[in-house]
Amino acid sequence: MTMPSALETPFDYIPFHRPDIGEAEVREVIEVLRSGWLTTGPKTALFEKNFANYTHAQHAIAVNSCTAGLHLVMVAFDIGVGDEVITSPYTFAATGETIIHAGARPVFADIEQDGFNVSVERIAAAITPRTRAIIPVHFAGEPCRMDEIRFLAQKHHLVVIEDAAHACGTIYKNTYVGNIGDATCFSFYATKNLTTGEGGMITTNNEKMAQRIRRLSLHGLSKDAWNRYTAHGNWYYEICECGFKYNLSDIQSAIGLRQLERYEEMQQQRFRLVKVYQEQLADVDEIILPPTPSFCRHAWHLFAIRLNLKLLSIDRDEFIRCLLRAGIGSSVHFIPLHLHPFYHDHFDYQVGDFPNAEKTYRSVISLPLYPLLSLNSVSYICATIRSLVQRYFKKQHHYLREVAF
Ligand SMILES: *Cc1c(COP(=O)(O)O)cnc(C)c1O
Repeated sequence: MTMPSALETPFDYIPFHRPDIGEAEVREVIEVLRSGWLTTGPKTALFEKNFANYTHAQHAIAVNSCTAGLHLVMVAFDIGVGDEVITSPYTFAATGETIIHAGARPVFADIEQDGFNVSVERIAAAITPRTRAIIPVHFAGEPCRMDEIRFLAQKHHLVVIEDAAHACGTIYKNTYVGNIGDATCFSFYATKNLTTGEGGMITTNNEKMAQRIRRLSLHGLSKDAWNRYTAHGNWYYEICECGFKYNLSDIQSAIGLRQLERYEEMQQQRFRLVKVYQEQLADVDEIILPPTPSFCRHAWHLFAIRLNLKLLSIDRDEFIRCLLRAGIGSSVHFIPLHLHPFYHDHFDYQVGDFPNAEKTYRSVISLPLYPLLSLNSVSYICATIRSLVQRYFKKQHHYLREVAF
């Protein structure tokens, strides 16, 4: 493969993301639309069954988002007012907000110094008598240190709820994410590795909880609509508890079913692209590549590089503008939750509270990564980055490096 020059721009624009929806998904949706049953029904039941098989979890409950899933699980575990839930500040809005919706207080534990995931030592330091749960976030699809987190949870009788929005297909020490914590929540949002447009899935090996979560996902009714309206069902139901309207429709499950069928293939394409990024950026001192722990299979939802800002004369925002001028879309994951005005106003979090998260945020850029991206595009992105860091290196560092060699 020849490396295209960064100066000649052979591509129009490389978007940060493009969903990979095939003809199989289109046909499956049309079938549902013609079937006479649009909402939660046979397609959702099959999607749940196949997803449970894929993750090796005993139960899978489809929901209309990962956000809904996180909220439901906390309610099902009776987490509420007066409780504290520990999570990473380095996450999306949903993780913090669902803790608050459940009535509990979000307590942040900083991420590791040289990674994106929550520090187990910081979790341990944040545990109080009010702590009820830990929500590890598997950033980009890299698994958190689940053995240590589960050990801590057992010791302190805490529930482990995984935010696996990025981690569909992540394997941690021979176990699929979805089959590790007390409950795991996946996202099928438009940009996620497996998408239904909007959607989510909860997996658990706890049968009692699975039943409660399922009931809570549809108004706390004793029977779901599908069971009520089939020939063998009847019109009668009971409201057993105050539930939510969080079910996934068969239209969406139809997309998910076909996505899941092709999922390993789509993942293999991601892995090939990641390899090109890793090879072509390996010797760039100004870039820190994302960690790739050997004991796991990373799901590579994101390829998040960090800039070594000490070696550069421009900051992250300017770097993103340069990429854009070269026709490359990129993004930033994440603005740490405690830096948002809401968390400052309501929980008294301050700038400086989680220095690792803040430092990572200042230097991070997510590069395009999706199955429809070509290997040539990745080469072009890498060549562009190489030429940018050459143009914007800090002169004194360059001099020192030459002396050092
Ligand atoms: C996308 C995302 C969510 C929310 O997923 P939805 O399905 O959109 O509700 C939660 N956590 C993380 C880390 C995410 O990236």
